[in-house]
Amino acid sequence: MSHVFHRHLSHTYPTAVGGDGAYLIDAEGRRYLDACGGAAVSCLGHSDAEVIEAVREQVGKLAYAHSAFFTTEPMEALADFLIERAPEGLSSVYFVSGGSEAVEAALKLARQYFIERGEPERRHLIARRQSYHGNTLGALATGGNAWRRRQFEPLLVEVSHVSPCYAYRGQAEGETPEAYGERLARELEDEIQRLGPETVMAFVAEPVVGATLGAVPAVPGYFKRVREICDRHGILLILDEVMCGMGRTGSLFAAEQEGVAPDLATIAKGLGAGYQPIGATLVGERIRATIAGGSGFFQHGHTYIGHATACAAALAVQRAIESRDLLPRVRQLGDGLQQRLEDRFGDHPHVGDIRGRGLFRGLELVAERESRAPFDPERKLHAAIKRTAMDHGLMCYPMGGTLDGRRGDHILLAPPFILEDGQLDEIVDKLDATLRSVLGPS
Ligand code: PLP
Repeated sequence: MSHVFHRHLSHTYPTAVGGDGAYLIDAEGRRYLDACGGAAVSCLGHSDAEVIEAVREQVGKLAYAHSAFFTTEPMEALADFLIERAPEGLSSVYFVSGGSEAVEAALKLARQYFIERGEPERRHLIARRQSYHGNTLGALATGGNAWRRRQFEPLLVEVSHVSPCYAYRGQAEGETPEAYGERLARELEDEIQRLGPETVMAFVAEPVVGATLGAVPAVPGYFKRVREICDRHGILLILDEVMCGMGRTGSLFAAEQEGVAPDLATIAKGLGAGYQPIGATLVGERIRATIAGGSGFFQHGHTYIGHATACAAALAVQRAIESRDLLPRVRQLGDGLQQRLEDRFGDHPHVGDIRGRGLFRGLELVAERESRAPFDPERKLHAAIKRTAMDHGLMCYPMGGTLDGRRGDHILLAPPFILEDGQLDEIVDKLDATLRSVLGPS
């Protein structure tokens, strides 16, 4: 019996022993094409020599220096790199070890900012239903995924949840995308008015929703309206780019494509591409300046903040993405993937929607295309798809059936940026074989 407390206690997992470009290899020598980067993490694949060397070199120099005593060269260099390329107004970086920690830091920075500005009454958070911002209690409270929250509800701080921008299921018949976005903006405005604008601290959203909806971008103009509403009421905009950031959608930050800049942004997964665990909260200048000019101290912290090896890995990853010109490649591969998915599954009776940006794509599965009726969640389609895909040598990220107990299943694809064109076909072929096995012939 394994003594590891695995998340699925009854599963037997294959043992991963190696990586080769876009493939993971198990102890039996089986190769799995990683079409989801685990969870949108492995953007440079699994064997990047430059990144591995950067990790080796850095850990050889310095094992650990606590951030309460020292700064380090890799941490400073990575912060410079990110801020030089970040949306306007973001001026410093708080390093952590993953996405949930980045979200926790953003929430606490927002709260502390308002206290130091003399607005302690600002304590309400607004986020969106069917969203995921992490599993630690603050991040879980912020997320609006009913299934993940259910048993922990008594431990969660109160957060308001408004509708996500989810055109496939939210946009009414005959309604234009613009009118839909405007309707959602009004819903946000109404919630702010209900809470009292002077008590609202921040609005939190993912620019492109990943885990809970399957690569769903907002309709045009939605985030501009959200930014405008936040500004009008003095509310901070926190954009969670833990999954969709760091080039995944074809621009370094997904917010760039919305034409908005957040007050706080969270990044993680693609930042270190899995070579080391790392996340970060990018902090707007007015927040930094307020705290710097006030208490001068952020009341938060973790032991592994800005670990030098993690920062060195992330810097090597980000430099590689830039020097190899991978962002245009992400856009090109992403278009190719979308096209192939549409060619193969466009008429599939159980594929209701194919969507996304860059190498961040989602397929929504439906029991019936016309009515968009979802599959019965009891069918646990996502588990069958994940298992069957692995049998076919493919890693994809299926989710759903449990979202509010009624929304549909989806499959998220987030392959590495180093993919070769032929591997796009391999993904689609293996996915097709998987869906045939699970759902029957189309
Ligand atoms: N935020 C978003 C948007 C995520 O997708 C995730 C993880 O999937 C998190 C936060 C939490 O990140 P982590 O699992 O690294 O704590």
